[in-house]
Amino acid sequence: MRQKPDSQQLRQWDRQYVWHPFTQMSDYVRDDAPIITEGDGRKLIDSDGRSYYDGVSSLWLNAFGHRVPEIDAAIREQLGRIAHSTLLGQGSEASIVLARRLVEVAPSGLQKVFYSDSGATAVEIAMKMAVQFWANQTEDRSSPRQRFIAFENGYHGDTFGPMSLVWDDLFHQPFVGMLEPHFQIPFPRQHVAGSLDRCRGALRTLLAKHAHEVAAVITEPVQGAGGMIVPPAGFLRMLREVCDEFGVLLIVDEVATGFGRTGRLFACEYDSIAPDLLCLGKGITGGYLPLAATLATERIYDAFLAPYAERKQLFHGHSYTGNALACAAALAALELFPKVLAQLKAKIERITVGLESLRAFACVGEIRQSGTMCAVEIVPVAGGHYQWRQQAGKIVCDATRAHGMILRSLGSNVIYMPPLASELEEIDEMFAIFRLGLTDAARGLARTAGDRSSLEAEA
Ligand SMILES: *Cc1c(COP(=O)(O)O)cnc(C)c1O
Repeated sequence: MRQKPDSQQLRQWDRQYVWHPFTQMSDYVRDDAPIITEGDGRKLIDSDGRSYYDGVSSLWLNAFGHRVPEIDAAIREQLGRIAHSTLLGQGSEASIVLARRLVEVAPSGLQKVFYSDSGATAVEIAMKMAVQFWANQTEDRSSPRQRFIAFENGYHGDTFGPMSLVWDDLFHQPFVGMLEPHFQIPFPRQHVAGSLDRCRGALRTLLAKHAHEVAAVITEPVQGAGGMIVPPAGFLRMLREVCDEFGVLLIVDEVATGFGRTGRLFACEYDSIAPDLLCLGKGITGGYLPLAATLATERIYDAFLAPYAERKQLFHGHSYTGNALACAAALAALELFPKVLAQLKAKIERITVGLESLRAFACVGEIRQSGTMCAVEIVPVAGGHYQWRQQAGKIVCDATRAHGMILRSLGSNVIYMPPLASELEEIDEMFAIFRLGLTDAARGLARTAGDRSSLEAEA
C-alpha cells in the first residue's frame, strides 16, 4: 500500500490540484485552511491533529455528528450487499423502503418520491415537474406556464434552473443573458409590522395579472443563504391559500430547513400545510452522503400518466439517482431523528442564550435565529454596514477557527448552525469560542472599517 501523504504534502497537493467551490483560489492558496482527515462527534480533526467544533454542520448538513455508530453500521451493512444499481427501469431495495418512510413522515398529501443527489437538482426537478404538469394538460404539450414566482434574496442552488429563479448581482453577472427572467417579490420579515399582509398583497396583485403564465410559486420556509431571514408566522399558510385561490402550484424548498433544522422535522409542520412539490436534501442522510428528493402529490404524478406515445413521462434522471448507500444512510438517520427532535427545544433555547451573550460586542448587529439556524451580523463599531467585499464575516470566522471552531460567513453575516445532536455543554463551549473569536477579530475589523471610505470611492 502506498504511504499516506503527510500534512505538508496534502496542503501542497490541495493547492496544486483542487479547485474549491465558492472560493477565490488566489486567496485560498495563501490561507492555511485546515485539511480535515477525521471526524469525531461534533468535532473535525485536521491533518495536523488539531480539532475544531463543526459549527456549521459541514455546511448545514450534519445532524448527529460524525462517525455515528448507527449510520456507519447501516452503510456497512448495505455495502455488504450492493453499493449502487440504477433506478432507470428497475427498482432497488433501499430506495423503495426509504421512499415509503419519506412519504410517512412528510406533510400529508405528498405521495411520490423522485430521487436525485443535491439540493439544486431537487429544485431543478421540481421546476421541470411544475412546468410539465401544465404542459401535459394541453394538446400540443408546450407549456403555457413557464414562469415562476420566487422571493428576492432567496437561494435554491447553483445549477441554471435554480439560479434563474433569483437574480444575484454578486454571482450571476457573467450569465445574465442565459437566465430566464422569473418574477420576484420581497420576502416578508418577522417582527416587521404588516409584513405578511404586504406580501399577500404583492403576490395577489402579481397573480391577478400573470397567473395564466405562472407554473408555481417557490419559497424557502426560512431564507438560509440569504442570511437566515425568518418570515412572520403563517407565511407558508398564506402562500398555500393564495396559490389555491389562483390555481398555481406551490413548491417549498426545505433543502436547508428540512430534517429538524427549525425545531420540527419539516418547517411546513408549523403551518400544517403541504406544498404540491417539496424539495429535500442536505440533512436527509444526517450529512453523510449526497442524496436529495423531490416529493410530489398524487395530482402532479397523475398528470404524467398516459400511453407511452404521448410522451408525458418526466424525461429526467441522474446516474446516481436513488443510490443504495445514500438511501441506507437516510433510513438510519430517520430512525435517529425522533430522539434528537425530542431534545431539540432545550438546545435551541441554549443557543438563544449563547447568541444573547454576543450582544455585548460592539461589532455585533442584528442576530437572527430559527431553531438551530443562526446568523450574526457583523457591523462597523461606528455604525452602518460593511460591504460584502470587506469580508467582515470571514475575519470573525478566521478568528474562531484559531480557537477551535469552524464557522462560515455569508458577506458580513457569520452563520452558526451546529449539528442538531450537539450537547448543551458543547453549545456552551462553542459560544465561548465565538466570544474569543469576536474579541480577537476586533483589530482586523477596525482595519477593514478604516478602509471603508476608499472602498466606497472605488464602488
Ligand atoms: C443548499 C441549498 C440548496 C442547494 O443544495 P445543494 O445540495 O448545495 O445543491 C437549495 N436550496 C436551499 C434552500 C439550500 O439551502
